[in-house]
Amino acid sequence: MAFRLGSAMTASNPKLIIAGGGLAGGLAALALAERRPDVDFLIVEEGERFGGNHVWSFFDSDVADCDHGLIEPLVARRWRDHEVRFPNRNRTLGFGYSSVRSADLDARMRKALAPSRYRLGSRVAELGPNHVTLATGERLAASAVIDARGAGPLPRLDLAWQKFVGLTCRFEDDHGIARPVIMDACVDQDDGYRFVYSLPFSATQMLVEDTYYSTSPILDVPLVRCRVGSHLLRRGLEPAEILSQEAGVLPILLGGRLEDLWSASDPPVARLGLRGGFFHPTTGYSLPDAVRNAVLLTEQAEFTSDALHAVFRRRAEALWQQRRFYQRLNRMLFRAAEPKRRYRVLEHFYRLPEPLIARFYAGRLTALDKLRILSGRPPVPVGRAMTAMRERRA
Ligand SMILES: Cc1cc2nc3c(=O)[nH]c(=O)nc-3n(C[C@H](O)[C@H](O)[C@H](O)COP(=O)(O)OP(=O)(O)OC[C@H]3O[C@@H](n4cnc5c(N)ncnc54)[C@H](O)[C@@H]3O)c2cc1C
Repeated sequence: MAFRLGSAMTASNPKLIIAGGGLAGGLAALALAERRPDVDFLIVEEGERFGGNHVWSFFDSDVADCDHGLIEPLVARRWRDHEVRFPNRNRTLGFGYSSVRSADLDARMRKALAPSRYRLGSRVAELGPNHVTLATGERLAASAVIDARGAGPLPRLDLAWQKFVGLTCRFEDDHGIARPVIMDACVDQDDGYRFVYSLPFSATQMLVEDTYYSTSPILDVPLVRCRVGSHLLRRGLEPAEILSQEAGVLPILLGGRLEDLWSASDPPVARLGLRGGFFHPTTGYSLPDAVRNAVLLTEQAEFTSDALHAVFRRRAEALWQQRRFYQRLNRMLFRAAEPKRRYRVLEHFYRLPEPLIARFYAGRLTALDKLRILSGRPPVPVGRAMTAMRERRA
């Protein structure tokens, strides 16, 4: 029998449990608290605060107008436009870019959720459709469970990596960067496609990340941190203070089957965020999917594990199909281009019209867009490009 949640339930009733209070789990909890006061839930996070230590950014066009209401209150800074820089192409693109800081997600969740709705510092050791067991051995009964514990093991997917170290720096004087520079590829190419990403939060504060599109997930954090400093010095900028550091190794999808993430033999537990494969195949970014999924969760009538599993598996399946084209492009980027020349694929891509580029990042390419992306002379050997796009690893 479907177990329906309701405000009349007492604290001892099993409730919906969200495992993992990062981006996807946190947004799901916030959305439920704001839009579905009838749904009783508990979010369980192993860290001492929600969201970890990230700056999450997105193009404004990545999030549907009807979903902006959920993310808008969390936006720390919004810019009207942004730039890309390549050896043979500089371009300013007129669609907005926004950033959310995990500290703001943490603050908002603590404000919006009653203390009975969350547990911090609680590691989930194991979970199933109707229970969560904590590392302490405590077993929590649940009417439904959602797994939002971030990326799990991905051994069977064909992956490459976007990896980076970023420093948020304070400068004594105006650093002179007016808008986000999403990719500055005018740097030595090393370990694949390398670029520097800069977000000027204010005239004297900026996040600067040294980024690599690489076939290896190994990230030498001290080395890359030094490279951020060298990059700034070469541009005549010396930070007065490093306010924070972040590092990431994000999956870039080249191929694989959805079943490798949502195995039919697993118990029916819905997955959100990276755990469910909800990320852009070419950037590894997951904020737009996390927003859409959080809103979708609030639209459900039935909060059982079976029902939620069916809804989010279906959505993962639909996105997987819809985004297959990105896997082919990724294979072209990683397998047809020499690592040191990978930047030319992106330089070539940025010749395209602005609305198409916005749709690319939003995951909403039309059939015509796909043709346009592939039209013209590719910046890699044609034969290798064709082979890479066709090829699927066993
Ligand atoms: C430094 C960095 C910067 C990024 N920048 C962007 C960006 O600008 N834009 C973008 O869209 N994406 C970005 N990403 C990629 C991706 O969107 C993020 O990784 C995002 O946080 C993934 O969301 P998630 O909810 O799946 O995982 P997470 O946000 O990592 O959340 C998982 C949560 O589960 C908790 N957890 C894990 N295991 C357990 C357990 N056993 N018990 C209890 N809790 C557990 C973790 O502590 C964590 O809080 C970035 C990633 C990193 C690492």
